[in-house]
Amino acid sequence: MSGARPVVARGVVGLVVAGRGPGGHGPSGSRSLAHTSDGHETGPGHPERPARVRAVLERLTERGLMDELARVDAPLASVDDLALVHPRAYVERVEATIRRGAAYVDSPDSAVSAGSFDAARAAAGGALFAADQVIAGAWSSAFCALRPPGHHAEESTAMGFCLFNNAAIVARHVQRRHGLARVAIVDWDVHHGNGTQHLFERDPSVFYASLHQYPHFPGTGAANERGLGAGEGTTLNLPQHAGSGNREWLRAFESVLLPAVEAFAPDFIVLSAGFDAHALDPLSGTELDGAAFAALTQSLVDVASRSARGRLVSLLEGGYSLAGLAESAEAHVAALLRPLSNTFEVDR
Ligand SMILES: [Zn+2]
Repeated sequence: MSGARPVVARGVVGLVVAGRGPGGHGPSGSRSLAHTSDGHETGPGHPERPARVRAVLERLTERGLMDELARVDAPLASVDDLALVHPRAYVERVEATIRRGAAYVDSPDSAVSAGSFDAARAAAGGALFAADQVIAGAWSSAFCALRPPGHHAEESTAMGFCLFNNAAIVARHVQRRHGLARVAIVDWDVHHGNGTQHLFERDPSVFYASLHQYPHFPGTGAANERGLGAGEGTTLNLPQHAGSGNREWLRAFESVLLPAVEAFAPDFIVLSAGFDAHALDPLSGTELDGAAFAALTQSLVDVASRSARGRLVSLLEGGYSLAGLAESAEAHVAALLRPLSNTFEVDR
């Protein structure tokens, strides 16, 4: 007896990418790898660059995974969608800042170009579309390969390459428009998701759980940040030292974070899937390998299937080594497609 578990097909996994131009959406028959995400140009030397999404899509194509996914172009989020989380005045300020040709919103980290507002709307809109598909039962889960990322975006402030908080928008969308009561946001980006935490730290209906390098940018995410007021206890931070790797991260994820998520009994799980904890990443000192992201994914899918009827939507956050990002995203998507497979041998 090998102990191997059978490979079980779970159904359709969605891949949401950005369309080829403003308004481009719906099922994609395009083979082009040029996307609205490319229109979000951050300038020479900026790590959060268009090549990131291209690297992910090229790797999925090379490995034949693209053919197994239901690929859809992201619709653009409306102002009403963005206003699920952000004040309308902030949405209007971001749009106006971009339209007047500014180089960044709020801080130079959050660099923008003429196409950034549509790219940001697609990043949020694609996430909402994925949530709708998963709740309708059309997809078992989804990965949104979209940018800009979102988890550093505060209610009224762009920050850390993020304009709108995509994960938070999805959480409010499934609550307010689908009537789901409890949402868990799991964040394994190597940076703490300050924006997501702050948006929900007083709200006991949204559980925010983060594994991240600490101390590190953005400075938040200490273990004693556990939520405020009525939300005390529904924020969970598991800071990890620089130099941590597969063993520390998988142990914290599987023995502390996931049991807490399962105990919360969410109706829906949003994953802030940053891949910058990869050893190759230039913005972290964390040492995960690609297989670790498969193992993290398998464990999360397992909990989602037990506690949230399998409802899981994964959103690309960070990941700045193209090689590390491609390897990690490939492992993540393969594990979404084959969560019970034993082919992901991880060195713990
Ligand atoms: Zn990050």
